[in-house]
Amino acid sequence: MASRFLRSFVFIVILLLVLCSFLVINPPSRAYVDPLTGEYRGEGGFEPSSPANEVEKGALAGGVIMPKLGNETAKAELGRATWRLMHTMTLRYPESPTPDERAALKSYFLLQARLYPCGECAEEFMQLLKKNPPQTSSRKVASLWLCHVHNLVNERLHKPEFDCMTLDATYDCGCGDDPVSSSTSGDGAPAPGMIKGG
Ligand SMILES: Cc1cc2nc3c(=O)[nH]c(=O)nc-3n(C[C@H](O)[C@H](O)[C@H](O)COP(=O)(O)OP(=O)(O)OC[C@H]3O[C@@H](n4cnc5c(N)ncnc54)[C@H](O)[C@@H]3O)c2cc1C
Repeated sequence: MASRFLRSFVFIVILLLVLCSFLVINPPSRAYVDPLTGEYRGEGGFEPSSPANEVEKGALAGGVIMPKLGNETAKAELGRATWRLMHTMTLRYPESPTPDERAALKSYFLLQARLYPCGECAEEFMQLLKKNPPQTSSRKVASLWLCHVHNLVNERLHKPEFDCMTLDATYDCGCGDDPVSSSTSGDGAPAPGMIKGG
């Protein structure tokens, strides 16, 4: 009776040892595919294959993509339109952005530096951003940063300095504190409570 018990005990101990050594040699993978979303979750937990992550890894670090833009008229028109877009963007950017929103704005400017359709302008802009990295902690900070950067470009092109205290008045597009809403009524008119910008 005792020897049967001893044999079983020894067998179980050996079995446990074998199992433990197997687990040490081949630890179980914590990676799995989420059955609900189909997303891959790797060893380190959630590893979203979000565009932001991919952008952070590679695309932001590259060089200028576009060729030289010889036509001075096209260059000036492109510049005016781009500045308008960028200033309007920073003036509508959240007052208290989330980390994701901050990363999005920073990525936008860094990618713009690579993709700006005037290659020689993009080269200069990229150098400018290296010395003056995008500031994204709030709407005010971002819009004043961009105004400063635009003034640096103005200086290089021998254009007058812009008074950054007049940003709101210059870009009067409803960029102040209008309620942010993407919803419109069926006829395309702004939804109730949404103020149309000037
Ligand atoms: C990223 C970038 C890089 C560029 N690099 C070059 C380059 O290397 N060489 C080149 O020839 N052109 C370049 N340009 C174009 C150039 O900056 C001008 O857009 C273009 O020369 C037209 O100038 P503009 O006098 O009409 O005024 P813009 O500089 O286009 O400004 C448009 C309007 O914005 C307002 N404004 C001016 N300064 C500011 C400011 N600091 N903050 C807010 N609003 C302001 C004024 O009302 C102005 O009329 C670049 C443009 C961009 C967007």
